[in-house]
Amino acid sequence: MFSIASKVPSVLYKSASFLRLSSTLAFIETSPEGKVLQSSLSALNAANQLGNPISALVVGSNANAASEELRNKIKCGNLNKIIVAKNAAYDNFLPEMLTPLCTELLRSDQYSHFIVSSSSVGKNVLPRIGALLDYQPICDITKIVDANTFVRPIYAGNALATVKCPQDKKLISIRSSSFPSIEEGANEAEIVDAPLMESSSLGTQWEGASLVKNERPDLGSATRIVSGGRGLKNKETFERLVTPLADSLHAAIGATRAAVDAGFCDNSLQIGQTGKVVAPDLYIAIGISGAIQHLAGMKDSKTIVAINNDPEAPIFQVADFGLVGDLNEIVPELTQKITK
Ligand SMILES: Cc1cc2nc3c(=O)[nH]c(=O)nc-3n(C[C@H](O)[C@H](O)[C@H](O)COP(=O)(O)OP(=O)(O)OC[C@H]3O[C@@H](n4cnc5c(N)ncnc54)[C@H](O)[C@@H]3O)c2cc1C
Repeated sequence: MFSIASKVPSVLYKSASFLRLSSTLAFIETSPEGKVLQSSLSALNAANQLGNPISALVVGSNANAASEELRNKIKCGNLNKIIVAKNAAYDNFLPEMLTPLCTELLRSDQYSHFIVSSSSVGKNVLPRIGALLDYQPICDITKIVDANTFVRPIYAGNALATVKCPQDKKLISIRSSSFPSIEEGANEAEIVDAPLMESSSLGTQWEGASLVKNERPDLGSATRIVSGGRGLKNKETFERLVTPLADSLHAAIGATRAAVDAGFCDNSLQIGQTGKVVAPDLYIAIGISGAIQHLAGMKDSKTIVAINNDPEAPIFQVADFGLVGDLNEIVPELTQKITK
């Protein structure tokens, strides 16, 4: 593949910011059917806040469907190009396959910003691109102050760092719960093909996936979450109390690390510093003390309801509504009233 950047020594290339205009490359994740994920709509919103022209990169067998969705369902005046890499090799978002493509685009085009959501795909791809291009990524940002300045949580969300980045290319991952989805509508973006890449020489290939089938809303994007902690005592009580309440609210189920470690539920449900970060409209915390590592994953929820028999439990400091009492009595009563 011919590119201008490949002919320019990297030091000169990095310092030659005058060669570039400000523009943003946004990486878009999709479902296997090619539906754009909510987290990527948030990434587009973040890209839009930079005010630069945006190119959106969609990949995989169903990249055409994703490109149509981006053009016809999203109101974003800054989105002027949709780059389509229709290739089954990208279907499972293997970082070994995606990194060369993103790197090639970032090298050869005049991008000042690269934005991806802070999902497992983003977390896999961003450091690789940073290492190959020799730029420091700025991870998990929650706010854009200006094109060079970003806010990101540190110390498990206990402090916010405002980071000014002097690099001429900013490689950014966003915390999607901090950026609402971009507005619905349509745009005039041009659809173009991505450069053809040689197949990876790393010998990595997708062997298969074993997925737990779940009818519930996805934890990362659910608007309501019912979450259980160690106060539920065992798996049987967790399932008997948390599941019906979640059913009655059409909510996703979450848990603390203590509940996961004790085997009450699957570890994919863990919320917190070392689990998922969520910000639903409603978060119901049952038998959860409110340790900082748990709060790091849910304290941005719009309305927090806590059920705990200890009035001094720290969860009440972040709760909008607190029910002090035995969860074995409160939860069935609440479920019954909601179901009625
Ligand atoms: C490096 C590190 C990373 C971590 N990452 C995470 C993380 O990502 N997510 C996470 O959640 N934790 C994480 N933790 C663990 C965290 O510190 C806490 O131990 C954990 O969150 C506590 O879970 P819990 O609230 O379920 O349990 P507990 O702290 O034991 O709280 C149980 C609560 O239930 C209440 N209760 C008991 N019985 C009843 C009853 N009958 N009715 C009503 N209430 C009752 C109690 O009053 C208590 O407040 C991490 C810890 C470390 C060190």
